[in-house]
Amino acid sequence: MKRVLSAIQPTGDIHYGNYFGAVKNWVKLQNTYECVYGVVDYHAMTMPYNPKKLRENTWALIYNLLALGVNKESLFIQSLVPEHTELCWIFNNFAAMGRVENMTQFKDKSLQSKSGADGFISVGLFDYPVLQAADILIYKADYVPVGADQKQHLELSREIAQRFNNQVGEEYFVLPEILYTETPKICSTADPLKKMSKSAGEKHNISVFEKEEVIRKKIRSAVTDTGETKAGEMSAGVENLFILLKASDNNVEYDALMTDYTNGKLKYSDLKQAVADSLVEQSNHFNMKKSEILEDRKQVKNEIKASSEAIRKFAQTTVSEVKDLCGLINVKY
Ligand code: ADP
Repeated sequence: MKRVLSAIQPTGDIHYGNYFGAVKNWVKLQNTYECVYGVVDYHAMTMPYNPKKLRENTWALIYNLLALGVNKESLFIQSLVPEHTELCWIFNNFAAMGRVENMTQFKDKSLQSKSGADGFISVGLFDYPVLQAADILIYKADYVPVGADQKQHLELSREIAQRFNNQVGEEYFVLPEILYTETPKICSTADPLKKMSKSAGEKHNISVFEKEEVIRKKIRSAVTDTGETKAGEMSAGVENLFILLKASDNNVEYDALMTDYTNGKLKYSDLKQAVADSLVEQSNHFNMKKSEILEDRKQVKNEIKASSEAIRKFAQTTVSEVKDLCGLINVKY
């Protein structure tokens, strides 16, 4: 069976960009592939953070992913599988400096850090995509279901794998392929020229566990005219609302409203109403599931520690084989 790997950072709530771009697909893929999904807490240390909050956020993300339908056996916490960092160190020697320097996410996030109080940018933030390559390759994943923002990082993972294979003279690592959803890029409703993101601030994302009033307010005030649209072209804001509707599987309303748009009769208020109704319905369902999960937190924690331990066995085998191939000292030498 082909293997799928994906991961998400415990840096706050899951928003509809994460859900429609990645997590919804994770749930679907569980029926077809062997799936491994990580809550990557080491990655969450690359930007300024609060240690107590990090631990809370990690468990909160586990509860949230379970509420969205991810299976417990597929889930692991990255810091419970420390082999990821060991493989990252090895991969640092197979990653080209110029390529890592060019990663868009590093540029964006380092700009954000620069504007912070002390302008501190960590080496961890720079090395983030190499750790990500280790996350993926350590499980010999065939497919990586992520949003379009991760394309560059996945290409880097393939390059590292290829360089490693060339060095050791065998096709040891599988070159992983990206697996997009139909909606790989969801934009901020407040600024549809930007991607929906946790790090861009509260008004630029909608949590999948958001309260009805907040969802309705954010969609009501969604920007529809970005002022850059050419005649005859759909504006980025309207397109984003249509994408949200499609991603919600609300095909009947999507088709009807798209016909209105084509005939020049679309009322933005109707489109917004349909989007808000669809998101509210999904969020109500997720909130119900989440309250069930929260009733038994202690047991969930034990189950996730056990699934991380089971998943770790695979990672340990890979690192041991990699050490042999790289000329490092392993117990048997
Ligand atoms: P964020 O960018 O909000 O910090 P993460 O980096 O933790 O989110 O990303 C988790 C997953 O969600 C990744 O697979 C990423 O590609 C996907 N994702 C994040 N934002 C979006 C978006 N706006 N549209 C589509 N997918 C997204």
